Amino acid sequence: MDEIAAELEVDRVEARAAAETAAWLRGWWESGARPRGEPPVWSEPGVVERLARARACAGEVGARAHALWRMAIAARGAVVDAAWAAGPRSAARLEAARAARERFATAAGFDDAWAMWRAVAGEEDAPLPERAGEVAGGATEQAEEIDDRPFARALAAPARLVAWATGGAPVQVEVREGSAEEAGRCFVVEPGRDVRVRVWRRPGASARGTARVLLHELGHATPAARARGPWALAQPASVAADEAAAAAMAGALEQPAVLVELLGVTAGQAEVVAAAERALRARRRARLVALAAAERAMYRDGGPPPWEAGLPWTAPGASHSYALAELLCAGGRCAGA
Ligand SMILES: [Zn+2]
Repeated sequence: MDEIAAELEVDRVEARAAAETAAWLRGWWESGARPRGEPPVWSEPGVVERLARARACAGEVGARAHALWRMAIAARGAVVDAAWAAGPRSAARLEAARAARERFATAAGFDDAWAMWRAVAGEEDAPLPERAGEVAGGATEQAEEIDDRPFARALAAPARLVAWATGGAPVQVEVREGSAEEAGRCFVVEPGRDVRVRVWRRPGASARGTARVLLHELGHATPAARARGPWALAQPASVAADEAAAAAMAGALEQPAVLVELLGVTAGQAEVVAAAERALRARRRARLVALAAAERAMYRDGGPPPWEAGLPWTAPGASHSYALAELLCAGGRCAGA
């Protein structure tokens, strides 16, 4: 494929993907349920192969082709996964799901499913370091001594928190009460133009936990809302970098000054909240690193399947991205940690 042909192909796929993705996300936002299937562009015959060839181009065309190729593989993989995630879990179905993912990855030209997810996420594969020593501390999600009311007030009128997190970039925010499949989601309908965040305060969830989800999603929304330039689609360099930005924003709850000035938490409470948040973060980090190792071992070394955790079942390969994001924050490279 010569450079002009590659550029025309990239322009065509990108324009179609941008239009279809925007319509697809608007439908999801309005109906409240993830649409069946993926935007049709990704099932166009030969699109993955043409993008794969265009990746060989130097410079911007190759980079854009690479980003679109990652999106195409992810969308096709999501169709394979949705077929399994929709039904009840059983040992036989879990094994069948694993085998189907391996077949899909091999057909797409990868050595195994784990290699495919790392490529799609834009991440190098490497076992992540254990940091088990940080697990100490018995903080719970809603420690008895923590006053939840400031967080409930912030959720009822989130404009100030949103303005702080986004630096004034336009993001439409909606906080709902009730049960939902997920606690929150960022909808990048049109980068730089139309970015929306919806969070759910689910039954039993603390306001503080829901505020943490809101901040996390605003961490995704802010760079997308500020996106400028000729590209029709925003694609983060890696999923881990994207999640690290979100995790860093949620880390605002670990800063006493932010808690006092932005959320109206008392000075005495702020230290308690910040300590509880730091302990939660350490436990989440340790849990994710262990889960990523177990999921990797299942695909690579015949290890026992860690399906009971949920994430390897519903979002294969994501454990590594989330764990890596938390390690990036723990390494001091995120402002909030
Ligand atoms: Zn996230």
